[in-house]
Amino acid sequence: QVETLKEKLLEQAQEISRLRSELGGTDAEKHRDLLAAENERLRQEMKALEGELQRQQQAPCRDCPHLQENAELQEQLSQLQREAEETRARLVELDLEVQQKTNRLAEVELRLKDSLAERAEEEERLSRRLRDSQETIASLKSQPQQIKYIIKTVEVESAKVKQALCETQSRNQYLQEQVGMQKQVLKEMEQQLQSSQKTEAQLRAQIMMYEAELERAHGQMLEEMQAMEDEKNHAIEEAFSRAQVEMKAVHENLAGVRTNLLTLQPALRTLTHDYNSLKRQVRDFPLLLQETLRSARAEISQAIEEVHSTNRELLRKYRRELQLRKKCHNELVRLKGNIRVFGRVRPITKEDGEGPEAANAVTFDADDDAVLHLLHKGKQVSFELDKVFPPQASQEEVFQEVQALVTSCIDGYNVCIFAYGQTGAGKTYTMEGTAANPGINQRALQLLFSEVRGKAADWDYTITVSAAEIYNEALRDLLGKEPQEKLEIKLCPDGSGQLYVPGLTEFRVQSVEDINKVFEFGHIKRVTECTNLNEHSSRSHALLIVTVRGLDRSTGLRTTGKLNLVDLAGSERVGRSGAEGSRLREAQHINKSLSALGDVIYALRSRQGHVPFRNSKLTYLLQDSLSGDSKTLMMVQVSPAEKNTSETLCSLKFAERVRSVELGPVSRKAELGSWPSQEHLEGDSPCSSAPAGRGHASPSPGQLSSRSASIRRKLHTSG
Ligand code: ADP
Ligand code: MG
Repeated sequence: QVETLKEKLLEQAQEISRLRSELGGTDAEKHRDLLAAENERLRQEMKALEGELQRQQQAPCRDCPHLQENAELQEQLSQLQREAEETRARLVELDLEVQQKTNRLAEVELRLKDSLAERAEEEERLSRRLRDSQETIASLKSQPQQIKYIIKTVEVESAKVKQALCETQSRNQYLQEQVGMQKQVLKEMEQQLQSSQKTEAQLRAQIMMYEAELERAHGQMLEEMQAMEDEKNHAIEEAFSRAQVEMKAVHENLAGVRTNLLTLQPALRTLTHDYNSLKRQVRDFPLLLQETLRSARAEISQAIEEVHSTNRELLRKYRRELQLRKKCHNELVRLKGNIRVFGRVRPITKEDGEGPEAANAVTFDADDDAVLHLLHKGKQVSFELDKVFPPQASQEEVFQEVQALVTSCIDGYNVCIFAYGQTGAGKTYTMEGTAANPGINQRALQLLFSEVRGKAADWDYTITVSAAEIYNEALRDLLGKEPQEKLEIKLCPDGSGQLYVPGLTEFRVQSVEDINKVFEFGHIKRVTECTNLNEHSSRSHALLIVTVRGLDRSTGLRTTGKLNLVDLAGSERVGRSGAEGSRLREAQHINKSLSALGDVIYALRSRQGHVPFRNSKLTYLLQDSLSGDSKTLMMVQVSPAEKNTSETLCSLKFAERVRSVELGPVSRKAELGSWPSQEHLEGDSPCSSAPAGRGHASPSPGQLSSRSASIRRKLHTSG
């Protein structure tokens, strides 16, 4: 605002000077006086404003932003004053100039008057002379001769006069021109004066307008100053209240900090204390560490010593335990009987067809997993074995029951696992399984590998496999170069009484891949040799013989265990009259070998002095794996289909017969008779030889009396 005021002032000053220059004269002086009076008034106002500003400066708000503003305003005010001073000085100068110009104007006017008077005089004089001259001429004309002369003279003189007249006339002309010019100048000056007066009136009006504006600006300035004052007061009030609030917050903070400080002080004390003690500890640490290390070393070496001695002691105990375990195991086997009989029922398959023939005839006991019931010709026959696997039992579950037998091979035991049953009952499925779901053979070898790996720290083991087939009482090597060649079983020449098969190929296997290769090889042999593998396999016994030889590096102890996995020929009866030629011969051979197996197992379980191993190639080959503390598992496979119930009944009878032999002296005595042959099992009606639904063909009194109480109970309940 001051800025605008200043500008206006400047403009006015310029205007004034312009007016001065235009005006001159007394009007300008009057105007100047007016302006001076205005200036004076403005100065007074400024002074008043200055006083106001000073009062404001002395006001309590020292750090108020208006102070700065005030100072600036003051500064501007003083500048304005200075400028007003200058304007005044210039005004005086301009006054002087106007004075001079007025004087000059008066002089010019005077000169003009003089020249006008001079001209009038001259005119007067010239007209008088003209008159005189004309009078003279007239008087002269009236005097003829003399006058002629005179005229001539006059004429001569008149020429002179004429010339003078001409000169005078031209001079007159010039003067008249001069007068005209002066008149023109006068006129112009009058016009100028008029226009100056007009301009003056305009300027006066402008000045009035400016004054009004100045008034308004002043009023506005006052208003604004008032507003600024109000604003300042408001700001001061606000700042004050804010400061009060902030002060309050600061006070509160201070109180919080004070209490914090109070609580922190003890913490600081304890921290300082801790720090000091830590410093002490750090100083003492290397010493302490050395001390600790020394004692730790001593302790460790002592502990190592102790561990050594404990280890020695443990090793001694372990060996003793090993012996004891073997003794216990033998005792357990002796008590339990080393021949176990499991039953496995395969599920009904598509091959069983549909209708009543494919109906399920086998049921199980929910509370006893060793019992199964067969519905045969409208009667329910119950059997108790060591364990029964229902159709839904997986390969894994079956193998879990078998794996203890498999691992005992590593400890040097001989093991035989037979799959017995009619063709299609699941023997091959149980022994070999499928590629996706392998059977006992592959799982057993995998288990042996992992067990052997686990014992590798102390033992060196080699695992070898052989594969053989017995068909029509001829033994053939499935892995040999000449599969058609019949092999012989011979006594070891070392006089140990051990048997061996010269020429039987043995492959050393170390991994599952090795076994797969061996199996594939064996299968290829069998496939290329036979036109109908299924037919052939059901008429021959397939043997996988795994030999595990171990050497205990610490004791030098050597062990040899044999695992014989046998997929037997189909046990189904071939009609006596129906078969002829090779078919009959095959049937006779199968019947003979399965009867011989039954005889041997029976003789072994009843601990007879003589075991008829030599009655078949199979029992003869497996002699050392069936006798002594060897273990045998008979997996009896049956079909649950209605159409197979006769064969199922025969297989289960065989199973129970093998199992029912007890080890007591009475039973031994009682069972001195021979094992019933397959022919015997093939009686016209299996059930007729097993009254009350029990599958025993001509059971001896001893046999009956030797049955376990549970069977007897079941026998009674099943009627
Ligand atoms: P075998 O060797 O006694 O003649 P297989 O093992 O060849 O009998 O089995 C005959 C059919 O029954 C095969 O197709 C086989 O896959 C199937 N089978 C046998 N047992 C089972 C089982 N527990 N689960 C599923 N399928 C089985
Ligand atoms: Mg088979």
